[in-house]
Amino acid sequence: MDKTDKIAIAAGNWKMNMLPSEVSTFFNEYMSKANTLEKTIFCVPYIDIPAAISAVKNTPIEIYAQNFYYEPKGAYTGEVSLDMLKDADVTGVVIGHSERRDIFGETNETINKKVLAAKAAGMKIILCVGESEHTREINAHHAWIEYQVLSALEGITDTKDIIIAYEPIWAIGTGKTASAEDAQDMCKFIDYVLHKYYNSFEAVPILYGGSVNEKNAAELFAQSSIDGGLVGGASLVAEKFAQIRNA
Ligand code: PEP
Repeated sequence: MDKTDKIAIAAGNWKMNMLPSEVSTFFNEYMSKANTLEKTIFCVPYIDIPAAISAVKNTPIEIYAQNFYYEPKGAYTGEVSLDMLKDADVTGVVIGHSERRDIFGETNETINKKVLAAKAAGMKIILCVGESEHTREINAHHAWIEYQVLSALEGITDTKDIIIAYEPIWAIGTGKTASAEDAQDMCKFIDYVLHKYYNSFEAVPILYGGSVNEKNAAELFAQSSIDGGLVGGASLVAEKFAQIRNA
């Protein structure tokens, strides 16, 4: 995507952190420190959704869910549907995060079902892809990412409201950020794959994720193929995430 003159997308992923009782204080502080509330997304635990939606009311900040189940309703104890999320004013969902793939066994097939269901429901999507350290060491990372992107998007007929986050697994929560050059190379490659297979589709913003912090954000966001960041740990501290937003 050509990001000339565009402000970066700052997406925070709280993972399984932040008590409902902490949400309002977090947003008060965040909003007082961020230079803009545009292009800002928080992916919050289900239980935090009502408090987060209420805190960002009348602002452009969007609240996404970190997960959902792709069936519309029924006997799926413990699961949450897209209609439930929409009814709670959630505007988007994260799909394919490496923690869901690795800890909860989500496969490329499940991820594709989720992408198709979210698209059909009119939900925005952050689709995460990323390679392991081993895949990079054997120099198979481009092929791996191409396969993850194409299998997730199989059957998709337009790419409107889809964001892709390139998150190398070895950089998530480890403090090991990909170099700006490596992150740029992979985000540019994803752009190339999308143009190759989906030439006529709407441009897809591509984020980098993996130990983004207030110190490295500016350099990463300055890369021509990086449209912003998906941020885990540093999105839990209002001041740090505001600095990333302001980078
Ligand atoms: C993430 O959760 O998507 C992530 C990139 O985490 P962290 O920023 O903590 O590496």
